[in-house]
Formats: sequence, C-alpha cells, structure tokens
Amino acid sequence: MVGPVRRSGTPHWFANAPDGSLGSLLMSHVLAAVAWPYANGPRHIGHVSGFGVPSDVFARYMRMAGHDVLMVSGTDEHGTPIQVQADADGVTPRELADRYNRVIVEDLHGLGLSYDLFTRTTTRNHYAVVQELFEGMYRNGYIVPKTTMGAISPSTGRTLPDRYIEGTCPICGYDSARGDQCDNCGNQLDPIDLINPKSRINGETPKFVETEHFFLDLPALAEVLRQWLDTREGWRPNVLRFSRNLLDDLQPRAITRDLEWGVPIPLDGWRDRPDKRIYVWFDAVIGYLSASIEWARRSGDPDAWRKYWSADGAGKDAQSYYFMGKDNIVFHSVIWPALLSGYSGEGSRDGEPGELGRLNLPTEVVSSEYLTMEGRKFSSSRKVVIYVRDFLERYDADALRYFIAAAGPESNDTDFTWAEFLRRNNDELVAGWGNLVNRCVSMAAKNFGVIPPVDPAGLTEADEALLAVARTGFTTVGDLIGRHRQKQAIGEAMKVVAEANRYLSEQAPWKLKDEADKPRMGTILHVALQVISDANTLLTPFLPHSAQQVHELLGGTGVHAPMPVIEQVDDLDGGPAYPVLTGDYTVGARWESVSIEAGRPLAAPKPVFRKLDPSIVDEELARLAD
Ligand SMILES: [Zn+2]
Repeated sequence: MVGPVRRSGTPHWFANAPDGSLGSLLMSHVLAAVAWPYANGPRHIGHVSGFGVPSDVFARYMRMAGHDVLMVSGTDEHGTPIQVQADADGVTPRELADRYNRVIVEDLHGLGLSYDLFTRTTTRNHYAVVQELFEGMYRNGYIVPKTTMGAISPSTGRTLPDRYIEGTCPICGYDSARGDQCDNCGNQLDPIDLINPKSRINGETPKFVETEHFFLDLPALAEVLRQWLDTREGWRPNVLRFSRNLLDDLQPRAITRDLEWGVPIPLDGWRDRPDKRIYVWFDAVIGYLSASIEWARRSGDPDAWRKYWSADGAGKDAQSYYFMGKDNIVFHSVIWPALLSGYSGEGSRDGEPGELGRLNLPTEVVSSEYLTMEGRKFSSSRKVVIYVRDFLERYDADALRYFIAAAGPESNDTDFTWAEFLRRNNDELVAGWGNLVNRCVSMAAKNFGVIPPVDPAGLTEADEALLAVARTGFTTVGDLIGRHRQKQAIGEAMKVVAEANRYLSEQAPWKLKDEADKPRMGTILHVALQVISDANTLLTPFLPHSAQQVHELLGGTGVHAPMPVIEQVDDLDGGPAYPVLTGDYTVGARWESVSIEAGRPLAAPKPVFRKLDPSIVDEELARLAD
C-alpha cells in the first residue's frame, strides 16, 4: 500500500474530491527507481515491458497528482559480458558501452520515458559513490575479506580472469557457462563450480590456487532484512514470498572478481591492482543512489537527493518504488536493502552510518513477470525478438505503451503476439478511443467551429451520468496506478471511453440537424468533449504522446504531457562527456477534471492513432526466425 501512513485502505492522498479535483493533497517525495538496462546490446520490447513503461506510467501519474517525483536510472556497463563482447568486437569495453548507452538512451527517449536523469555506471560520480558505500560497509564489518580458490593458467602462472574460463553449468548443465555466470539459466557461478573447466585462451584446464576476495556478509544482515520485510504491505504476493524465501538461506556473497573492467576496490593495497574489480551487480544497484546524487549535483542543489534518501531529516517520509523484471528481485529485495542497512550500521554487527548518513530502504519492489514473443522466450541469438528501435520505426510509441499497459506481464507471464497487437491497436485504440475523439471534434468543428456551449435548458440525466462516470475515474484510476495495478487502471480509463461511445450512439447528435435542435446538439457535444478531455487526462500517464495531440485537438495550448530530452553533458568530475535523458516535468496537466471552455476554437481534426493493415502480422512473423 502506498501512502505516507502505512495502513490498509486507500491512503488519503489518493482521494479526489467528489468534483474530480485533487482536494486536499498531501505531497510526498517519491523516488521511482528503474532497473538499469545492461549495455551489451539494444533492448527489446520484453525488457521495456518489465521496467520501462510501468515505471513511467507510475511516475507520470504521481507527478500529475502533485507529488515530488525523482525518476532515475542509467545503463549498467561493467562486468564480464561487456568485456567478452568488446574483446570479440576488437574494441575497448568503454567503446562498446558508449555504443549501446547511446542506442538505449535513444530508444527510451522514443518511448517517452520521463526520467529526471538516465545516466550510466561509468561516470566518475558513480565510481565515487560505489566506493563510499564499499568503504562504509567495510568499516562496519559487513564486507569481509575471504580466501577462496581462484583460477590461474598452469602454463603461464598468471591469473585467469573469469571470462576466460568456460565449462558445464553445475545447475542447468549448459555446456558453455562462463566462470562467473551461466547465460542459459542466469545463475551466478564461481569458476571452481564449473564442471570440466577449460581456459578459453588455450584450452588447458585451469589450476585453482588460494586468492583473496571480498564478501558481503549477508548472514549478519538477515535479521534486519527480515524485520524490514515483515513491515512491507501491499507488495505483489509472489514478490514478498520469493524475497522471504531467499532470507532462509543467506550465504556470504563474493562482491569482487578477477576482472579488469569495473570499479576498483577502494582499500589500500587493492586500489591500484589491475586484476581485481568490484563485481558488476554490486556496483549497478548502487546506481539508484549515485544517479540521484548526480541529478542533485546537476540541479544546482547538491543536497537535493536527500529528500528521497535520508532516513533522518529531509527524506524521512519519502517513498521509494523499484521497478524491474522478476529475474532481478533478489538484487532489490535482498542485496540492495542489505547494502543500505550495512552502510547505515544497522545489521547484527551495528556500526556507524557513512558520510551520506542513514539511507532509506525500498518502500516497495514492484516486479513484473516475463513477456514472451509468439509463445517463445525472447532470444536475440535465435532472432525471436523485436528491438525497441525497430518497433518504433514501424509503429507509434503509444501503440506499444498501450499494449504493455493493457496486456503486459504485470502479474503473470504473458505472450506478445502480432495478431493481438493488431487487434488492440485497431479495435481499442483506433476504433474505441481515437474514433470517439475524431467524431466529436469533427462534428463540433463542422457545426460550431468552436466548443459549443451548454443549452440554457440544462443537462439531462444522461448528460450528468456520463460526466459523473468520467469524474469518478480520477479516483479509481489514480488509486489503481498508485497500487501498481496498471492493467486494471487502463481498463477503468477505457471504460469511460466506452461509456462515452455508448452515450453518443444513444444521443445521436448527428440526427439533430434542424435549427431548432441545434442547442441540444451543442449540449451533447459539449458533454462529450468534456468527457473526452477527462478521459484524455486519465490516459495521459499511459499514452503521453497522443494525450498531447488530443489536448491540442480540443483547442488546448502549451505542454499537456511533458517529454524527456536527450542532452550531451560533461562528466561532473572530469571524465568523458556522455548523453543523458532528462526533462522538465513540472509543467503539464494535473490529475483533475478541467472544465472545457465554450467558444474555444477547435483545431482541424486529424486522426490521433494509425489504423494498421492486417498484413503486418504476416510481415512481422516472417521476420522471426523459425
Ligand atoms: Zn546454467
């Protein structure tokens, strides 16, 4: 359950007054923390259905409802897979990360995802924040050195980095698992766990010798994690259950690797070692904090991040929501809260908070299930895939956003099929919503040229009933988005659309052609246009691009749904420049019914959505390999 006061029932800041206005609203600081896409290739629509669109719908709604939202993320750029691919492509890991960072930034921009800051993990700011957390936890005793078995090449005697060791996965039996990870089952491994380990350089069997690494002492944080999980309310039950189960068997976890690409270990004797780096998953989760700090430093108020993070003072009532696919739950419901607790000095070893102070644990981990494609798992190598970029070249962003919200993997694995995409686009977006807008705006423009006034005879019961349905939508739809039930929320918004279509068929304003009937025709169109304006606001978090167009068709000016921009920025601490996504989201519509003004000129009608030809289904299926 969301809300400044953790009780069951609807938090009072959701409640709209009966007239659809915001009423007395309690503003909160809300962190929307969005999973970091890995920069080893372009992202496909399965990825953005898990982390991208749901987080943006939530952030947009919360801003419209008057909250102070900070939405941050970036590309995750360290680790073995990027190093391996860079080696294969004959470029440096940084060059590879640069390439896909740019691709991903452009794709997320194309989808209209309203990040306050979308950055990357290769900034100097990120390195400094990661090292600060590492040092703080080390001082408090939650990071401990441990002697483990590391691989060396018997012929040269040198350390063999994880990525150069290959063997059979002990968990799933996949025969080309790498030393740190199995790409088939996704489990993290240690080289010594591999069955029949071989060097990828020369095929020899590596020799395992004692070497030192650092471990996160998760057992020392288990109790504080359990207490925290016990206070969570309103989480999706599978996420909470899964997270609790993980606590039953917590082991110390290695957070450094034999690898050259990553954040250096910030301890004397380790800082300058070229062969040991902080493990990618440890650095990536800290990105939520480092990106918030980077955003604050760029905003001109370097302490502004504290409003969302400080457990004492400015951020003590802040809320934080983490959005991801289900394969990432462990990092957000166990590892990340463990790091935050250890840094704050709150595990069984106690300790003192580091210089950033005590930090907030997540309010909620909002995890999506998986999207499949035509009944199969997305797979870039097997070409069962459509990348965001290719999708946006052929279709509109809102068509995809609509599909994800209405039919995405919110709480069950769901299948994307082109036939269903076509049906949803043509029957629901075009015939349901787009047509309603078009018919009413065209009829009003043709007969009145402006938004017609309400006839002095007043409103009928049917008029009042429809207006009430739309106003009620602000409470129901807003409440559902706030509780991460977006599928139901967009369903409720589309019910308003369906009611308006039914009203129009029943009232049949096109039959009121006589001059004497024209005032009533004007009233019907006024009511319909008011409801279109309300429905458009209800749909704005889901369909921001078309919401702006509908706003303009109704004669509105200015920004209705603010959009992100790509900016090339300098690294704040002297590193290379890079592109970020950011934007000014203080402008735009509020979550309330705004009365349309009679007499306001209407724009020339034009279709808001594109009807798709059924032939696209066969064309797209032909692009998938069989
Ligand atoms: Zn495996």
